[in-house]
Amino acid sequence: MMGFGPGGIDCDDVLADVYLYLDDESDPELQGRIRAHLDDCAPCLRQFGLEQDVKSLVARCCGGDVAPDSLKASIRLRLTQVVIETTHVEYRAD
Ligand SMILES: [Zn+2]
Repeated sequence: MMGFGPGGIDCDDVLADVYLYLDDESDPELQGRIRAHLDDCAPCLRQFGLEQDVKSLVARCCGGDVAPDSLKASIRLRLTQVVIETTHVEYRAD
Protein backbone atom coordinates (compact mmCIF):
# COMPACT_ATOMS: atom_id res chain seq x y z
CA MET A 1 0.00 0.00 0.00
CA MET A 2 1.01 3.59 -0.45
CA GLY A 3 0.63 4.59 3.20
CA PHE A 4 -2.23 5.87 5.25
CA GLY A 5 -4.28 8.99 4.84
CA PRO A 6 -6.21 10.94 7.47
CA GLY A 7 -7.58 8.78 10.27
CA GLY A 8 -4.91 6.18 9.56
CA ILE A 9 -6.84 4.77 6.62
CA ASP A 10 -6.42 5.09 2.88
CA CYS A 11 -8.95 6.77 0.62
CA ASP A 12 -9.42 3.49 -1.26
CA ASP A 13 -10.05 1.66 1.98
CA VAL A 14 -12.55 4.28 3.08
CA LEU A 15 -14.50 3.87 -0.12
CA ALA A 16 -14.47 0.11 0.32
CA ASP A 17 -15.31 0.15 4.02
CA VAL A 18 -18.12 2.67 3.79
CA TYR A 19 -20.11 -0.31 2.59
CA LEU A 20 -19.69 -1.85 6.02
CA TYR A 21 -20.41 1.45 7.66
CA LEU A 22 -23.72 1.60 5.86
CA ASP A 23 -24.77 -1.75 7.25
CA ASP A 24 -23.34 -1.18 10.72
CA GLU A 25 -21.22 -4.29 10.30
CA SER A 26 -17.89 -2.64 10.91
CA ASP A 27 -16.30 -2.46 14.32
CA PRO A 28 -16.37 0.75 16.34
CA GLU A 29 -12.68 1.39 15.81
CA LEU A 30 -13.05 1.19 12.06
CA GLN A 31 -16.12 3.42 12.13
CA GLY A 32 -14.12 5.95 14.12
CA ARG A 33 -11.29 5.85 11.62
CA ILE A 34 -13.63 6.27 8.67
CA ARG A 35 -15.31 9.19 10.39
CA ALA A 36 -11.96 10.79 11.21
CA HIS A 37 -10.84 10.30 7.63
CA LEU A 38 -13.96 11.91 6.21
CA ASP A 39 -13.51 14.85 8.55
CA ASP A 40 -10.02 15.47 7.22
CA CYS A 41 -10.20 14.20 3.67
CA ALA A 42 -13.27 15.52 1.92
CA PRO A 43 -11.54 15.44 -1.51
CA CYS A 44 -11.65 11.65 -1.71
CA LEU A 45 -15.44 11.76 -1.61
CA ARG A 46 -15.89 15.07 -3.36
CA GLN A 47 -14.19 13.78 -6.47
CA PHE A 48 -16.90 11.16 -6.72
CA GLY A 49 -19.71 13.54 -5.82
CA LEU A 50 -20.28 11.62 -2.59
CA GLU A 51 -19.17 14.09 0.03
CA GLN A 52 -22.52 15.52 0.99
CA ASP A 53 -24.41 12.24 1.03
CA VAL A 54 -21.81 10.31 2.96
CA LYS A 55 -21.23 13.06 5.49
CA SER A 56 -24.96 13.25 6.02
CA LEU A 57 -25.07 9.51 6.56
CA VAL A 58 -22.14 9.54 8.96
CA ALA A 59 -23.68 12.36 10.95
CA ARG A 60 -26.91 10.41 11.26
CA CYS A 61 -25.20 7.19 12.30
CA CYS A 62 -22.98 8.90 14.85
CA GLY A 63 -25.95 10.89 16.14
CA GLY A 64 -27.91 7.72 16.79
CA ASP A 65 -30.41 8.32 14.01
CA VAL A 66 -31.32 5.64 11.53
CA ALA A 67 -30.29 6.61 8.03
CA PRO A 68 -33.11 6.39 5.50
CA ASP A 69 -32.92 3.37 3.23
CA SER A 70 -33.17 5.62 0.19
CA LEU A 71 -30.01 7.48 1.23
CA LYS A 72 -28.14 4.26 1.92
CA ALA A 73 -29.29 2.80 -1.38
CA SER A 74 -28.17 5.79 -3.41
CA ILE A 75 -24.75 5.87 -1.74
CA ARG A 76 -24.32 2.12 -2.15
CA LEU A 77 -25.12 2.36 -5.84
CA ARG A 78 -22.73 5.25 -6.27
CA LEU A 79 -19.95 3.47 -4.39
CA THR A 80 -20.42 0.35 -6.46
CA GLN A 81 -19.82 2.40 -9.58
CA VAL A 82 -16.80 4.12 -8.01
CA VAL A 83 -15.20 0.85 -6.92
CA ILE A 84 -15.76 -0.72 -10.32
CA GLU A 85 -14.32 2.30 -12.10
CA THR A 86 -11.32 2.46 -9.76
CA THR A 87 -10.59 -1.25 -10.16
CA HIS A 88 -10.99 -0.97 -13.90
CA VAL A 89 -8.56 1.95 -14.09
CA GLU A 90 -5.99 0.11 -12.00
CA TYR A 91 -6.16 -2.94 -14.21
CA ARG A 92 -5.75 -0.86 -17.34
CA ALA A 93 -2.86 1.11 -15.85
CA ASP A 94 -1.12 -2.14 -15.07
ZN1 LIG B 1 -9.59 10.27 1.55
